[in-house]
Amino acid sequence: MALDLLDVGLSRREVCRILDVGYASTYRWQVRLEPLPNGSAIDCFRCTGLPLPDARAYLYLLGQYLGDGHIRKSGRTHCLSITCCTDYPDIIREVEEAIPRVLDASVFHRGREGVGCINVEANTIHWKCVFPQHGPGMKHTRSIVLEPWQQGLVSQDPRPLIRGLIHSDGYRGLNWTERKVGGTVKRYTYPRYQFSNESADIKRIFTDALDQLGIAWRVMNRRTISVARREAVAALDEFVGPKS
Ligand SMILES: [Zn+2]
Repeated sequence: MALDLLDVGLSRREVCRILDVGYASTYRWQVRLEPLPNGSAIDCFRCTGLPLPDARAYLYLLGQYLGDGHIRKSGRTHCLSITCCTDYPDIIREVEEAIPRVLDASVFHRGREGVGCINVEANTIHWKCVFPQHGPGMKHTRSIVLEPWQQGLVSQDPRPLIRGLIHSDGYRGLNWTERKVGGTVKRYTYPRYQFSNESADIKRIFTDALDQLGIAWRVMNRRTISVARREAVAALDEFVGPKS
């Protein structure tokens, strides 16, 4: 029934309403419509040495994890938790869809809708294998360095990492400036991106990725990196754009 509804093009939210089921439970059905690589469960690529099934999904999830995620012990396993703003359902969906393309884990939500954010979570013992930046304490109080294999993936294409970082700790908004034209003051608005994080290491991972693509940035304040030049904003618009 749910598959039929999804198949004719209804959104997951509409299917939830019609069948009166939770939003997270529809993701498995959707995955059945769009089979995962190899069509079956994905083993941990770090433990098995098998190729990473989907580098794009991995780097996106890495960006989300570095921005707004954490790994905690949950019984005998580990739980990856990504905090998402409920104003941006498309981003929630992108996180939900990236998770099973990295590791074989069922996605669920924790926390109440209506408080502005929701935690998108999944349990597997292998989160620490794929995100070795895990450690005790807040991320800004410890060193966050990408391992060579992660850096290799970023070097091949840093765009999904940048997208994940901006989707978690960044935004695209409008800035304004005033200029005198022919004696009258005119106000101009222009789009710009900002990325804010307490960790100097995570900000450096972000700016290194921008450098790799030749996208200009500047330090706005202690926490924030700004991308405001017209051609730099246009470059980010090609693969990030406004949050939704
Ligand atoms: Zn593993």
